[in-house]
Amino acid sequence: MINFNQPHLTGKEAHYMYEAVSACKLSGNGAFTKRCQAWFEQRYGFRKCLLTTSGTDALEMCAMLCELKPGDEVIIPSYTFVSTALAFLREGAKVVFADSMSRNPNIDADTIEALITPRTKVIVPVHYAGVACDMDAIMAIASKHNLLVVEDAAQAIDSYYKSQINNQKSQMPLGGIGHLSAFSFHETKNVTSGGEGGLLVVNDERFVRRAEILWEKGTNRAEFFRGEVNKYGWVDIGSSFLPSEVNAAFLWAQLENLNDIQSKRKALWETYYQLLKPLAEKGLFSLPDIPNYATNNAHMFYLVLPSLEARTDLIAYLKNHGVGAVFHYLSLHSSAYYAPRHDGRALPNCDRYADCLVRLPLFYDLTIEQVQTICELISTYYH
Ligand SMILES: *Cc1c(COP(=O)(O)O)cnc(C)c1O
Repeated sequence: MINFNQPHLTGKEAHYMYEAVSACKLSGNGAFTKRCQAWFEQRYGFRKCLLTTSGTDALEMCAMLCELKPGDEVIIPSYTFVSTALAFLREGAKVVFADSMSRNPNIDADTIEALITPRTKVIVPVHYAGVACDMDAIMAIASKHNLLVVEDAAQAIDSYYKSQINNQKSQMPLGGIGHLSAFSFHETKNVTSGGEGGLLVVNDERFVRRAEILWEKGTNRAEFFRGEVNKYGWVDIGSSFLPSEVNAAFLWAQLENLNDIQSKRKALWETYYQLLKPLAEKGLFSLPDIPNYATNNAHMFYLVLPSLEARTDLIAYLKNHGVGAVFHYLSLHSSAYYAPRHDGRALPNCDRYADCLVRLPLFYDLTIEQVQTICELISTYYH
C-alpha cells in the first residue's frame, strides 16, 4: 500500500527534543522557539514571527489583530480549509466567499472588487498547493480600498511570488506580502512540528506589539522577559497560542533540513508531471497550473478530472491497486454550516475543484519508483 501521506523524520527530532527536556525549559518561548522564529525572520525577511500550536491558531491571531466589528466583511475563497473562514467568523465577521480562478484553485482576483462593500475590512488569499495567488493584483485592490490582507500560507513554505510593478521585478516569499500571514506545520504539510503546529507572521509594524501580547495570554510578559518593563500584567485579550519547546525542537530538526526536503519533494513532483503529461495532452485530465508569477514548493500534486464520476472511479481504482489518492475541499459556501448564511451566488470554479480535483501521494519518503508505479497504474487505467 502506498499511503496518501506519511510524516517524515529527518533523524534529529528526538535529539533536539531530548535537548529541550535537559534544558529544564519545556514551556513556550524558550531557546528552540526563538531559534525557529529567528530562522524564518532571517531566511525570508519576515518582520516578526511567532510559533503557534496550529495554523488555525495563527489564523485566529490574524483575525483578532484585524480588530473586526460585528458585521464587518472578510473576502475568502470558498475553496479552502474550514479554518480560514472560521478564524474570522469567530471574531463576528461576515464571510463573503469568492470563487476560484478557472486555471487553478486560487482566489480569482478579478472577482474581488465586485464583492467589496463599505463594510469590507480584509481579503484572505489562500496559496493553494503552495502556488501564489496573484498578489500584485490583490495588494493593489487592498490598497485602493484601504483593506488588510491576511495570507493563508499554510501550504506555502519556501514558495515565492514574482512581483512586477511598473516593470520593477522582485521575488517575494509567500507569507511576507500581506499585512499578516499564517503557516501550518501539520503533519500533512512540507515540514511538521510533530503533528500540529503553526506560525504567525507579522509584516506590518503596527501589529507587532499586540501580536506578542495576544500570544502571551493578554499579558506583556514578552516585554518583561526582554527587560523592557519591570513587571508584567494583563493588558489586552489573548489566549495560549504558543507551543511547547518539544514541538519547537521537533520543528527545528525539520527546518535545518528544509533544502533537502524541498529538493526531494520537487523531484517527486517533477516525475509525476513528466510521466502524466502525455495523458493530460490527450485531454483526460489537467495537471497542476503554476502561473508565471509563481514558484512551485511541491506541496501537492493533483489532477483535475472532467467530472465527479470520473474522479470517484479513478480514486476507487487506485485504492483497489493499493494507492491512497484523495479528494480535497468541499465548497464552504454550500457546507451544512454556511449554506443558510451564504448570499446565494454560484461559485462554479470552486464547485468544479470540489468535485473534480484528486490529490496523489506526495511525501518525502515516497520513492521515484513508487511515483513511476502510480503513473503506470494511471496509464493502464486509461488504456
Ligand atoms: C492546513 C491548513 C490550515 C490549517 O492548519 P492547521 O495547522 O491544521 O490548523 C489552514 N488553511 C489551509 C489552506 C491549510 O492547508
